[in-house]
Amino acid sequence: MIGAQPVPERQSSEPDRAPTAVGASPAARRLPPAEQIARGRLDASGLLALQRRAGNAAVGHVLARQPSGGVKSPDLINPFDDEAEAEWEAGMAELNELAATLRKRLLDTLEGRDAILFMSRIRALSDRERKVLEGDEEFWRGLRKHLSGVALWAVRLRLHYTGSYPAALRELSLAIHEGDWSRTRTLLFAYDWLKTVPGLREVIAARFPVKQADDLRAILLEVTTRAESGKREYKEAHYEKGKMDWFQGTRNYELVRTEHYVRVIVRIHLTEDAKNKAPEITDKVVARWERGIARVWNGKLRLRSGTRTLDVWFIPMFLFGDAPAHHDVTVTAGDDRSDEHHWHADDEGDVAAHEFGHMLGNPDEYNLPATAAEIPASFKLTPDEIKRNNWKDVTGETKAKDTDGYDVPALMGSHYKSTRLHLRYAADIAATFNATLKRAGEADWVAEEQK
Ligand SMILES: [Zn+2]
Repeated sequence: MIGAQPVPERQSSEPDRAPTAVGASPAARRLPPAEQIARGRLDASGLLALQRRAGNAAVGHVLARQPSGGVKSPDLINPFDDEAEAEWEAGMAELNELAATLRKRLLDTLEGRDAILFMSRIRALSDRERKVLEGDEEFWRGLRKHLSGVALWAVRLRLHYTGSYPAALRELSLAIHEGDWSRTRTLLFAYDWLKTVPGLREVIAARFPVKQADDLRAILLEVTTRAESGKREYKEAHYEKGKMDWFQGTRNYELVRTEHYVRVIVRIHLTEDAKNKAPEITDKVVARWERGIARVWNGKLRLRSGTRTLDVWFIPMFLFGDAPAHHDVTVTAGDDRSDEHHWHADDEGDVAAHEFGHMLGNPDEYNLPATAAEIPASFKLTPDEIKRNNWKDVTGETKAKDTDGYDVPALMGSHYKSTRLHLRYAADIAATFNATLKRAGEADWVAEEQK
């Protein structure tokens, strides 16, 4: 039934334009609804336009204010009087007629197996016609005889969205077309609003094997709370070629809390280095980094508060184009030394996992001074930063000063020897979680190993 259409997601303060759609009454073509309201007349098309913008309650209000014979004070008008009801009926009848016309025009092309004509007619629809068709159950029943799966979903999206789709939806559409379960779930984790895209459950059932479809549908049902860590610069200090030096890192990510998990989402925007002679950011390269980060970081850590635990899952979202991101990374050809925001196309997954660690607020743990005393005060590290940047505080062991420094055999240290994670690598996450997502009555969450 068309009357049950949802309130549209777009809100606009522009004055209503006169509907010019097929089937709109001549009166409606002449006067925009706003003006009709002002003049005390609102016909079926005007009502529909109002209903689409502001919902049924608003229509009730306007009907209540429409002048009707003999009653002086608008406040005393019963919104459900016969005249209003008759107008409402007329509006509905006109709508049904429009829906039937559009339905026939479109479905006829498919009876004739002319998919190209069908799509061009879909594209030619006005906003109003699209809304009418989207809410027309009979249209969908007819369409299902000809289309299913991603083809049916494509029509749904075309009717629901005006103009070009948002970037994340384009990505999701591509992932679903390709049956890429991992990418689909990552996108649903990263962008809550994607869960409300129309037709998602149906296309998931059509496109994925049962187990994967069940997993994706479970994600659609998840209740989540989210918090951004915010961008924060931090300092680190270590020896470079026998000399103490300081460096700056940037922490920035988003936490998503669900019933059993906390997800750490890091949106990483990749850009080609202008010096590259050919494109270096290929699917193969990005897949190597995604796998590396997942292998090193996932399945290892969790947060605990009393008897409750939440497994921590890390999700790097590599982005291209002009998508907003937590970090910008330039990718250069070759395999030179990389840093947090400058990677090389030949970097192994372990290198990506190390740089990912910086994005979560972790300093390097190689070439470390033996003690805090070797870090000059002029570097202006905070007391917490100093603790993370000397061998004694990091390992508890005492060593003599050595200007080559000392390497921790772990991910943030000599990751060529070991990609081990230490609990301190989740320190920033635990602190951010406690500051933003801890609920009333919960003791502070602390990081521990997943068992
Ligand atoms: Zn590093």
